[in-house]
Amino acid sequence: MLVLLDRDGVINEDRTDFVKTPDELIFIPGALKAIAALNTHGHLVAIVTNQSCIGRGIITTETLTNIHGKLLQSLAAVGGKIDHIFFAPDAPWEATENRKPGAGMFYSAMAMFRYKPRNTVLIGDTKRDIQAAAKAGCHRILVQTGKGTATQQDGFEPDLLPVSVAKNLAQATDYILEGRFST
Ligand SMILES: [Mg+2]
Repeated sequence: MLVLLDRDGVINEDRTDFVKTPDELIFIPGALKAIAALNTHGHLVAIVTNQSCIGRGIITTETLTNIHGKLLQSLAAVGGKIDHIFFAPDAPWEATENRKPGAGMFYSAMAMFRYKPRNTVLIGDTKRDIQAAAKAGCHRILVQTGKGTATQQDGFEPDLLPVSVAKNLAQATDYILEGRFST
């Protein structure tokens, strides 16, 4: 499978004031090992993340690169890797199709790796993630970390279903490794 991961609230703790430095990137327990397990089992793993903090002028692209440097290094330390990081720098008021709930990053990822929607699964914590994945026709797993519990409580419109719900990225990974998610 091509596994597309949202970043904030899935891999690292979500912050209402954005992750602005490498130090503010705090990993959710088990997340990095879960990515390594996906790698080991031959799945491609890419990140699809909205980073409006760039469009809002809060951080630069260079800072984002440094933040992702920490992510990739920490992941390498547990034997994991990310095949590509897609990010949408758009501010909400000038959003392109790349900013979720737009599906632009999903189309880019599927084109880059030549994967079809039926072989692609999104793991995210917000309705925007689920909407983008539904638009692109990919499978969808909601994690209860980050904003996930609140998202689950809000519920999903029928056109977004089915959505599998996992406790965290580690459990979502188990679903994928066992081929056990709603389709
Ligand atoms: Mg998120």
